[in-house]
Amino acid sequence: MNLLVTGGAGYIGSHTCVLLLEAGHDVTVLDNLCNSSAIALDRVQQLAGKPLRFIEGDVRNRDDLDKAFAGGIDAVIHFAALKAVGESCAQPLDYFDNNIGGTIGLMQAMEQHGVDRLVFSSSATVYGQADTVPVKEDAPLRVTNPYGRTKLVMEQLIQDWCTARPSVSAVLLRYFNPVGAHPSGKIGENPRGEPNNLMPYVAQVAAGVRPFLRVFGNDYPTPDGTGIRDYLHVMDLAEAHAKALEYTVARTGCDVFNLGTGRGYSVLEMVAAFERASGRAVPCEIQPRRQGDIAELTADPSRARNVLGWEARYDLDAMCGDAWWWQSMESCDLVSPESQPGTMVTTLCRTAQARHPGEGGDPRPSGKPILNVDDQPSAVEKRLPPSRKCFTTAKPVNDVAEDRG
Ligand code: NAD
Ligand code: UDP
Repeated sequence: MNLLVTGGAGYIGSHTCVLLLEAGHDVTVLDNLCNSSAIALDRVQQLAGKPLRFIEGDVRNRDDLDKAFAGGIDAVIHFAALKAVGESCAQPLDYFDNNIGGTIGLMQAMEQHGVDRLVFSSSATVYGQADTVPVKEDAPLRVTNPYGRTKLVMEQLIQDWCTARPSVSAVLLRYFNPVGAHPSGKIGENPRGEPNNLMPYVAQVAAGVRPFLRVFGNDYPTPDGTGIRDYLHVMDLAEAHAKALEYTVARTGCDVFNLGTGRGYSVLEMVAAFERASGRAVPCEIQPRRQGDIAELTADPSRARNVLGWEARYDLDAMCGDAWWWQSMESCDLVSPESQPGTMVTTLCRTAQARHPGEGGDPRPSGKPILNVDDQPSAVEKRLPPSRKCFTTAKPVNDVAEDRG
């Protein structure tokens, strides 16, 4: 198929593009790079061994959309959105304009260009505090912030569009907590500034970029008192988009699916898994609950399994191992020209590369340590040049915003 992928340079979009190209699709990416880098798309093409068409442009701009649709598009995967919860509270109108305005413009362009298949990135945030878990797709929807509001409104607009246009086929995918990275370590999630989400923060603590993890609350009604979420590997998520595309070909109307594993892990379980995968200590400090947090949210993914034929395949060790491999590669990028051979970071890169030689084979760390356990985080902090201590330098790939959507 000829596919238009909006937001394809971002975290989830770039991983999905690799799979789509590998599956033989022709891909056009429309992205304004407001939260990503074109270098991610170079790496996508390297990984897939196939070119894609990139249009640097905005989904709110009609000319950019017309360029993207020129030449014929069979289906659209719509990732492009702003996704930082905190920012959405401070700048709600920007979120309404970008996310809702962009989606309306996209649907108008689809109609004009005769394209009637759409896969849409929604979020578990539309459930808010669910009454029961695991949550099913027909659970009450109650959003708690402007970002969540945009996801809910976009879902409703797409549903209304499908009702008005019986030839349209749309799939709304409600993602739970995507983590991990491509097993090659070439693309992954790269938060700008201090991460708000758990796993990028844990990875940075393990790498010594940050001294400790703040655990937001250990007094929830969960077995260890910390919050429980449904984490899924970004490659599983990417795979779900391919399944959803097939589904849009087979039928019309609007359908919605949870994408999660159905298994919840607490903050402390995630930390322990990351320590196993990295061989590094992740010091924690218990702090008060984060405002607006909920105790537990997990998916009932049975509908995606029964209808789409999709099921998450990667386990927690793979999620953490791939996240750590990506983080290790990121640390390589942080080595400054003035770093001396033998510094901690150089050692980290060499050790990681020794475990993942070349581009071939299966580079998955499989939860095994990449580093020697005696390479303590504090050593990284000490030996990195001051300007390289945090991720504020030019980023090679997906510069994603701080909060997860
Ligand atoms: P991301 O920020 O890495 O990717 C979004 C991409 O869209 C970026 O490349 C950005 O430059 C682009 N973009 C934003 N506004 C645009 C516009 N007006 N025109 C063109 N391009 C624009 O985010 P992600 O994590 O890859 O998320 C992708 C989608 O999945 C988003 O819709 C997000 O809300 C949703 N989602 C993400 C998560 C998560 O945890 N990452 C969870 C649930 C839902
Ligand atoms: N969390 C934490 N410390 C952090 C970031 C997150 O303890 O620095 C906790 C958070 O309170 C929640 C879980 O980790 O229980 C997942 O948080 P995240 O922001 O990644 O996902 P979301 O809450 O949006 O599902």
